[in-house]
Amino acid sequence: MTDKKQKVVIIGGGITGLSAAFYLQKEMKDHDLQIESILIEASPRLGGKIQTVHKDGFIIERGPDSFLERKASAPQFVKDVGLQTELVNNATGRSFVLVGDRLHPIPAGAVMGIPTQVLPFVTTGLFSILGKARAAGDYIIPAGRESGDQSLGHFFRRRLGNEVVENLIEPLLSGIYAGDIDKLSLMSTFPQFHRVEQDHRSLILGMKKGLPRANQKHEPARKKGIFQTVKGGLQTLVDAAESKLTNTKILKGVKVESITKKVVGYVLKLSNGDVIEADTLIVTTPHQQTANMLPDKENYHYLQEMPSTSVATVAMAFPEEAIDIEGNGTGFVISRNGDYTITACTWTHRKWPHTVPAGKALIRAYVGKAGDQAIVEQPDHEIIAAVLEDLNKIMKIEQKPDFTVVSRWKEAMPQYNVGHQEQIQEIEEKIISSYPGLFLAGASYAGVGIPDCIDQGKIAAANALDYLKKATL
Ligand SMILES: Cc1cc2nc3c(=O)[nH]c(=O)nc-3n(C[C@H](O)[C@H](O)[C@H](O)COP(=O)(O)OP(=O)(O)OC[C@H]3O[C@@H](n4cnc5c(N)ncnc54)[C@H](O)[C@@H]3O)c2cc1C
Repeated sequence: MTDKKQKVVIIGGGITGLSAAFYLQKEMKDHDLQIESILIEASPRLGGKIQTVHKDGFIIERGPDSFLERKASAPQFVKDVGLQTELVNNATGRSFVLVGDRLHPIPAGAVMGIPTQVLPFVTTGLFSILGKARAAGDYIIPAGRESGDQSLGHFFRRRLGNEVVENLIEPLLSGIYAGDIDKLSLMSTFPQFHRVEQDHRSLILGMKKGLPRANQKHEPARKKGIFQTVKGGLQTLVDAAESKLTNTKILKGVKVESITKKVVGYVLKLSNGDVIEADTLIVTTPHQQTANMLPDKENYHYLQEMPSTSVATVAMAFPEEAIDIEGNGTGFVISRNGDYTITACTWTHRKWPHTVPAGKALIRAYVGKAGDQAIVEQPDHEIIAAVLEDLNKIMKIEQKPDFTVVSRWKEAMPQYNVGHQEQIQEIEEKIISSYPGLFLAGASYAGVGIPDCIDQGKIAAANALDYLKKATL
């Protein structure tokens, strides 16, 4: 028997790789496992798409700003890295959708645009009478017979009609995926809506039944919002996780260039010329990079071809009195049928008041979406001018921003188009037979949200340990 430690290498130090490394180390500690763990990150910092800027008392997120509280793995991760007291929920307020150059409040009770209360839908100016009548068709239209996947657009158009899709559901969904609703996969994004249809036939009735009772009545809105972040910004979460990785060797600024399979285990070639061996691998890099590391990348066509959308966030700081905002609004999304460059906008000082100094306002606008990404390639001053032009059409802005932070995210939003799930399943099967002990995880596969990535990292860590355990039997 050799006393050489088994080695796990995690490639990619975004939230997926960090959670994989963290939960791997936790298991090693809890069960006194003699395993060597290495995390390799190409850039000089950990966090991937999570990146926070602190400027003049503002806390500005370049990428994600929060996660859904109800997806337990993210708040749990925050607690596990010792930041429980730093958790904060968003302030509630009205959200709007911009249709026909007017901001319309999102009707109360709408869940991802699906009505669950009748009155707010009957009275909203978002849809014509015909559009509303068509949406009511959901009460009687039979459940769809599609056996395989279908696009979100196809599904929602059939149930609720084009107007509800174009004026409400599409803007809300494209805010999450920056994708094309008529290409995005129902089964890979919101399979629960398919289940609701199959179980209840009507989406409206089914969603209503599935909601907690408090949401079904005209009760005062809950004081806490449904999103959470950590007070110092999400980078704090990354830094706390990194500081806990005391038994993990972390290599930053080093890229994995290739993965080669040996008879047992793997050899990784690194950008600094080093070569390291591993018994098992957790690969959390975006799918195109992952395919490029494999010697037989042509067998992973889907990973090479799967599109990702480029987006940019544009954060603008103002004195509070310089801008005029609707009521208690926290932000708006925009219908793709309007003539705007921005796709959505958060009035950050309303949604996350702790991130802004007293008397100041922070607006965060988003540009770039499937089919319209050229803006992301433009120089900062052109992006800023386009955003300001749009904002001036929508709200009153009296002066130029005090400062602006433009963050480009090129090919950053993986598109789960129709058939994604089956393609990923096929790839996983291929990987199991061609690359035993190699585990894929991250935003490219089973959910783009931070909690989905944490779940995947945790599962990959468990799979890697399980693999090592079996290898020693
Ligand atoms: C603008 C924007 C806003 C978003 N908003 C939200 C939000 O509010 N809430 C939410 O839940 N989600 C949001 N998301 C989605 C979420 O942020 C991402 O899906 C998630 O952070 C991805 O994490 P990851 O670890 O899978 O990938 P990444 O963060 O992309 O990490 C992958 C890492 O791998 C590294 N890497 C790449 N190639 C190599 C290599 N060869 N060797 C070593 N390392 C390599 C990269 O440098 C990177 O650090 C948003 C995304 C964007 C872009």
